[in-house]
Amino acid sequence: MKRFLAAMAVGALTAACAVPVMAEDDNVLVMATNAEFPPYEYREGDEIVGIDAEVAALIADKLGMELQIEDMAFDSVLAAVQTGKADIAMAGITVTEDRQKTVNFTDPYTTATQMIIVAEDSEIASPDDLTGKTVGVQLGTTGDIYADDIEDATVERYSKGFEAVQALIQGKIDAVVIDGEPAKVFVEQNEGIKLLDEAFTEEEYAIAIAKDNEELLEQVNTALNELKEEGEFQKVVDKYITSDDAEAETEAVTEEAPAEAGSEAQTEAAAEETEAVTE
Ligand code: GLN
Repeated sequence: MKRFLAAMAVGALTAACAVPVMAEDDNVLVMATNAEFPPYEYREGDEIVGIDAEVAALIADKLGMELQIEDMAFDSVLAAVQTGKADIAMAGITVTEDRQKTVNFTDPYTTATQMIIVAEDSEIASPDDLTGKTVGVQLGTTGDIYADDIEDATVERYSKGFEAVQALIQGKIDAVVIDGEPAKVFVEQNEGIKLLDEAFTEEEYAIAIAKDNEELLEQVNTALNELKEEGEFQKVVDKYITSDDAEAETEAVTEEAPAEAGSEAQTEAAAEETEAVTE
C-alpha cells in the first residue's frame, strides 16, 4: 500500500474526459488508455493517475499541448490511434511484432514482465506447472497471447485484470497471467493469493502512434528521451513504485533497439531463461 499512499499524496495530474474529444485539436494531445492497470494508469476518484498518465502529461507539456485522457477497454487503445480518435496510446502497452504491423511504437520506456498469480496454497510453483490448468488473463493483452501457448491449458478471458484476480480468489481458475507491476498491486491488496518468483516472459512497454503520424512519433520520442535524460521520467516511476520493489524491470529503458516480444521463439526463450525478478 505504500506506493498507493505515495501516489495519492502526489495528487492527480490529469482528468478523465466525459465528452469524447477528437484528436484534431492541435493544442490537445489525446491519449487512449485503460485505467485499470495500477500503477501505470488507474482512477483516484474522478481522475486518472499513474506513471503513464504523468509521463504523458510531461510529454504534452514539452510539445506545448494539453493532455486529454480517454479511458477505454484495453483491446480498443490501438484501434483508437489507428482511427485517429486518439493521438497516442499509452497503457503499459507491450511492443510485439504483430502490433508493430498496425501502429508505430516510440522507443521503449520500461522493461516489464508477465507474472503468475496463484492461490497461497497452490501446487503451481513455476510456469511449467501451468500445463493443463485453467488460466485467467485480461482480454487482448500479452498475457492472453502467451497463455494461449500453454499446453492443454484452458484460458479464461476477462475484460479487466482485476476480474481475473477475483475469479482466482473465488477458486474459479488456477492462476492469473498478468503484467508484473499490476500483479504486485493486486497481491498486496488481496488476501489468499501470491505471486510466483519466476516470471513468465519479459517484454517492453512503449507508446503507440498511428503509422501515418511519423511527425508526432519523432516529437514524442524526442520528448520521452529528454525526460529520461533529465531524470524526470525516473522521478515519476519512483513516485509510484517504491525503491525496494523497483528492480531492473522498472528502470527506464534507454537503448534504441525495438522489442521483439511476441514472437513464439522469444516467448519460449523468455519463459525458459527469465530469472525471478521479485524479491
Ligand atoms: N502489457 C500488456 C499488453 O500490452 C497489458 C497491458 C494492459 O493490460 N494495460 O498486452
